[in-house]
Amino acid sequence: MEYGNNRNYAIIVVILSVLASTVISLQLKIIYDNRQLKKYLSDDFFQINTEEIENKIEEYTNIDKSISSTKEEYFNNIRKLEDMILSGESDKRIAYLTFDDGPYKLTYRVLDILKEEKVPATFFVLGKDTSDIYMRIVREGHTLANHTMYHNIGKGVYRSKDSFMEQVNKLENYLYDITGYKTSLIRFPGGSGTAQAFGLKDTLTNELHNKGYKYVEWTCETGDGSDKRLQQKSEWEWYKDTCKDQKIMVLLMHDYHEGTVDVLHNIIKDLKDQGYLILPLSNKSVMAK
Ligand SMILES: [Zn+2]
Repeated sequence: MEYGNNRNYAIIVVILSVLASTVISLQLKIIYDNRQLKKYLSDDFFQINTEEIENKIEEYTNIDKSISSTKEEYFNNIRKLEDMILSGESDKRIAYLTFDDGPYKLTYRVLDILKEEKVPATFFVLGKDTSDIYMRIVREGHTLANHTMYHNIGKGVYRSKDSFMEQVNKLENYLYDITGYKTSLIRFPGGSGTAQAFGLKDTLTNELHNKGYKYVEWTCETGDGSDKRLQQKSEWEWYKDTCKDQKIMVLLMHDYHEGTVDVLHNIIKDLKDQGYLILPLSNKSVMAK
């Protein structure tokens, strides 16, 4: 049917082209050629390309899924190892490096050191206007975790259940908008002892669990949370004294503190020399409550 129409059309075109001026005939030829071309494109040729494009789109869509299922498997395996360590089936040891309250300018240096040493860490971050660094944390294989939006212990975060959860949700959305990554791991500002001091630990833990979150404390530190402590002894001494003989260690550090960043290379080297595996935290970890 179409071919017939086209043929009639072509005859008319031929007649017209004889009669009409060169310009008109050329224009009509173009219209005719274009119709033929469209017909050609709408057949097999064009369909194959659409299929290819659709396949590519599906492939790219599934990349996210395959990354997240690989990540899940990875964290499940870490959990299995933790269980084996705790039951005595494995004599390996695990160290989780954690950095709180960032990101700061120093975080770039921390990330450079971790990259150089090829070890992953966990960053309990706040909401700050340094968006490129959140993406870098995720891209370089570290765990990005919630530490509330503002961390204002004295002025509001622990005022009520709602004020705390508002800051958790706010940061969660903020990080998701920047990185596309939804965190479900948190550390209470000041630790769960601070939440306890405000009489909110159990209520907040329940709320967090309902949202799929787990919280992580620490088992040792570089003492960089307060200057008073560092007057007693150095970051390195704090590390050596508190991070002793632990099968599974969670080391608390702050990426605003230059003294910690200065000894970070040595800490990592020391942990490696002692045979520790340095790994990133997830809410599957036995250390996540
Ligand atoms: Zn903090």
